[in-house]
Amino acid sequence: MQKNENSNVFKASWIYDEAPESIDHIQIKKKYELFIDGKFTKPVKGNYFDTINPSNNQKIASVAEASDEDVDKAVKAAREAFLGWSNLSGKERGKYIFRIARLIQERAREFAVIESLDGGKPIRESRDIDIPLAANHFFYYAGWADKLAYAFPNRTAKPLGVVGQIIPWNFPLLMASWKLAPALSAGNTIVLKPAETTPLTALKLAEIIQESGLPKGVINIVTGAGETGASIVNHPDIDKIAFTGSTGVGKYIQKAIAGTPKKLTLELGGKGANIIFEDAAIDQAVEGIVNAIFFNQGHVCCAGSRLFVQESVADLVIQKLKNRMETLIVGNPLDKNTDIGAINSKKQLQTIENYIKIGLNEGGEIYQTKCTLPKEGNWCAPTLFLNVSQSHRIVQEEIFGPVLAIQTFRTIDEVIEKANNTPYGLSAGVWTQTGSKIFHITQKLNAGVIWANTFNKFDPTSPFGGYKESGFGREGGLHGLSSYVKFE
Ligand code: ADP
Repeated sequence: MQKNENSNVFKASWIYDEAPESIDHIQIKKKYELFIDGKFTKPVKGNYFDTINPSNNQKIASVAEASDEDVDKAVKAAREAFLGWSNLSGKERGKYIFRIARLIQERAREFAVIESLDGGKPIRESRDIDIPLAANHFFYYAGWADKLAYAFPNRTAKPLGVVGQIIPWNFPLLMASWKLAPALSAGNTIVLKPAETTPLTALKLAEIIQESGLPKGVINIVTGAGETGASIVNHPDIDKIAFTGSTGVGKYIQKAIAGTPKKLTLELGGKGANIIFEDAAIDQAVEGIVNAIFFNQGHVCCAGSRLFVQESVADLVIQKLKNRMETLIVGNPLDKNTDIGAINSKKQLQTIENYIKIGLNEGGEIYQTKCTLPKEGNWCAPTLFLNVSQSHRIVQEEIFGPVLAIQTFRTIDEVIEKANNTPYGLSAGVWTQTGSKIFHITQKLNAGVIWANTFNKFDPTSPFGGYKESGFGREGGLHGLSSYVKFE
């Protein structure tokens, strides 16, 4: 990747084997404004923050910081647009949503480059997973817009009104699509806030929204940090908050809206158990372990960050895992051969490094791959811990990085008890060639999403969400749609 000193134009054509002309130069503006009422709007107080490239910690662009006044303008625009949008026929709403999906597809490569540049994830993941899946969410929910009567038979489903959506930095465009698409389909209008370290693809989406001809005010995108989020949460004219992020902020939001009529869905942290039985296809399982914890640098709420291996195959699995880890390429997110990109921010790197220290102090045995990390930027080598037990903090707490805690087990009952023994209940994975074992264990694991013989697979038709401190409410599928309607 080269950067022209005089403008923020990034040359990225070499990323793809056969890059089309259109992505030869990825246009990144020097300054981004708020997207309110269909227009790019300067922030009232005139404040901007920097969005940083985590692979070299250099500034990419200035981004507007929305104050209470800006959020108020966005909410007013959304309120004004609500009647028109919700009264539009489902068929017409569906057409707009479909158009947004098509435009994401058309610009997929541009989105992928910006996502990797701004957030640090490997381009292969942005290109093959984040961006196509984001488009697919819009396609999927476009299809529901004129079928609400079938979706909720014998009940009259009405939109909630103005929805505030606050999203994290690990899957920026994808999380935006998980939230925007069902809300739009059901006839709501929206104020969306992307995370402060990864605002660029949401702002690119704003350009597409403008191009799609979506009526003004239906989607408003306000950028900023926690204070902007809090200002959305506390705005009196918002009917629902949909939040994805840390459990701490989720709890804060819950308290902040207590006693108000606002509805709430929370998708929070996790500490997913990945369980390998002795009769698993071992090589496949090792690939699954790698994908479960190292996908997106482990910045994944449903990551398989705890590994439980049946004792009889533990040595074999751990050896194969170490060997496989040594082959992982850590480095430039914009290189298509990269497996593990940059840690999203300095702050997140500190959090991960701190957990590694805690793991060592608690007596864990560490294994880190011997890869050479780039000098600039935020990096963490793939890491695993052995010799840990249920009470260790690195087994109980979410690290949100490429750090795996490994334990062994003998019996199915033992592993069920251990797997369920964290404050979280978001994801789990089971590896066995015995179908009955899968059915047995999936009934007993307290996790909203359970994969069998695979991990981290997502589809717009499948509901996603957690139990316990992982939050409540589901996104995806009909469940996702139902959290944006009320019944009359
Ligand atoms: P992390 O700690 O991993 O960065 P956060 O939960 O802080 O995750 O961030 C998720 C989203 O929540 C981001 O968009 C962030 O700006 C927003 N946010 C942070 N603090 C608050 C808050 N007090 N109220 C509302 N939103 C917030």
